[in-house]
Amino acid sequence: MGNIQTDKTELFDKTLDIMQELYEKMSTAEEDGGWNDHFGLFHLFADLGRTLVEADRCSFWKWDKINHKLITNAAVGTDQIVIDEGTGLVGRAIREKRPVVTNDPYNCPDFNVSVDKSTGYVTKSILVIPCFNCKGEMIGAYQAINKLTDEGFVLERDVRRLSVAAVVCGITLEADSFLSDSQTDKLTKLRNRMGLHSDYNSKYLKMMKLPEDQKHEVSVIMCDIDHFKRVNDTYGHNAGDAVLEHVASILKSSVRDSDTVYRWGGEEFIIFLAKAELDQAAFVAERIRQKIQASTCTFEGTDIKITMSFGVAQMSPDIPVEENIKIADTRLYIAKETGRNQVIKETIKGYEKVES
Ligand code: GH3
Ligand code: MG
Ligand code: MG
Repeated sequence: MGNIQTDKTELFDKTLDIMQELYEKMSTAEEDGGWNDHFGLFHLFADLGRTLVEADRCSFWKWDKINHKLITNAAVGTDQIVIDEGTGLVGRAIREKRPVVTNDPYNCPDFNVSVDKSTGYVTKSILVIPCFNCKGEMIGAYQAINKLTDEGFVLERDVRRLSVAAVVCGITLEADSFLSDSQTDKLTKLRNRMGLHSDYNSKYLKMMKLPEDQKHEVSVIMCDIDHFKRVNDTYGHNAGDAVLEHVASILKSSVRDSDTVYRWGGEEFIIFLAKAELDQAAFVAERIRQKIQASTCTFEGTDIKITMSFGVAQMSPDIPVEENIKIADTRLYIAKETGRNQVIKETIKGYEKVES
């Protein structure tokens, strides 16, 4: 770190470089299967702010108002950090709804020394400005750390520069929240059909299409609650909703982080399993079937027991996702037709029941 006052032409040039990179990323996003989130954008915007105020590090913090946390959404120069809302200088900027600057953090009561202690980094100067969405609600904050010139941050000038990054980060975060809402089922909090299509293109299809020595098999499990209509008819719609939440939580806790559970519609769920061939997926499905059968959903003091039927297929990257799902759906149909509460996987013979 030294006295490297960047002249304005150089700064302008660097800014344009970042914007151009961003433009190219956006223009090729579709070919890349689109973005599952806006991480790439945040990262570049964070870098833009860092460049504009000549800081060593920068991070964009999202305010998670439900869990009362502040989380770095994009950080250049450091790993993801989670702190309690209202704490640290980021917390203060949000609390006071105004920019906060210090060129002497260790003597600043709001400075959180624990992060430096755990990382070994020495913070010398900090500038934080809150970020807003288009409705004027505060949704996070942008933080720049360690001015690369000896003078430290100068509030008025650096806030002016950082506002460029704060505005675009704020708008992008808002878009990100809308995107994630539109891909999430309100009842079960699982990803929905839109989320499934997005994940298939951006993650699972790519996995199957990698070169021979790197590619992974991906399988799909489709499952449906047996006689769910009876649950609604017997215990009421709210009890039915509770059963759906109960099932969602069992499905979610039964798969790996690289797998995803979706609410396909009504009482039907889909699971994409990464790095899983047909037999492995069938094994997972059978394990889940037994778990569901053994579980009890208690709603307002009443115990409700259910079972589920499953269809399993290994996916092919050469046919559309709908076709892959249709194969699993056909197996599920057979599971229903031939007795329910069972797993059917495809085989060369046609179909086969999976035994535990
Ligand atoms: P099968 O074993 O053949 O799958 O029978 P089923 O009764 O589960 O299937 P059916 O398709 O006849 O009924 C599904 C029921 O699921 C009907 C519908 O009202 C109910 N359902 C769909 N979505 C929801 C929901 O969000 N909440 C509740 N409580 N019920 C729902
Ligand atoms: Mg059903
Ligand atoms: Mg159904």
